[in-house]
Amino acid sequence: MTKLLNEFWVTFSSIFTGLGVTWRHLFKRSVTVQYPEERLEMPKGVRHQLYVNIDDCIGCNLCSKACPVNCIEIETVKSTDEDDLGETSTGHKKRLWVTKFDIDMAKCMYCDLCVPPCPTDCIYMIEDYEYSKYDRDDLIFKFSDLSPEKVEEVKKKAEEEAARKKAEKEKQAAKKKAEKEKKQAEGKKDEKDKKDSPKTSKD
Ligand code: SF4
Ligand code: SF4
Repeated sequence: MTKLLNEFWVTFSSIFTGLGVTWRHLFKRSVTVQYPEERLEMPKGVRHQLYVNIDDCIGCNLCSKACPVNCIEIETVKSTDEDDLGETSTGHKKRLWVTKFDIDMAKCMYCDLCVPPCPTDCIYMIEDYEYSKYDRDDLIFKFSDLSPEKVEEVKKKAEEEAARKKAEKEKQAAKKKAEKEKKQAEGKKDEKDKKDSPKTSKD
């Protein structure tokens, strides 16, 4: 009987404790934010979506190397001697075409490790946190602004220049080799002439 009474007491006291909390909150100011009509101001240094100012990117790959989950994919193509890609706003000379700069925000863990190594401060987090998608692939953000045609064009030009430089290098090497062989042959001939000359004087 005592056990039963004890259980009744626990049950009723729990119910009234819970109701007490509910009643207390009925008279307090509501703290619910009516999102999306209402939005809280984000604190400083908050980590949200990554953004790349591609005009300032030199394709150095430092951000990608720093990422612990490999969610940054960068591809670059060397510019040719006749290309002038200009400078970044921080004064760094641009020598590479950034043909691909993808960040997979579905993999990103918002650690911010990719931001500090950037020499031109062009990768950073912005305040946009509303980018949920139905398809995971839509969370791959593409920052390269080159069209597929332009990418093909710069790749072709880079290949042609590399082939031309390689051919020139080979030509120079062959020329040097020929000169060296010629000198060696001349040296041998001089040696032979020296050896032969005393004989001739004796005769
Ligand atoms: S925040 Fe972290 S996980 Fe996300 S891209 Fe940068 S380094 Fe990778
Ligand atoms: S570290 Fe900066 S400059 Fe280098 S590839 Fe990344 S975003 Fe571009």
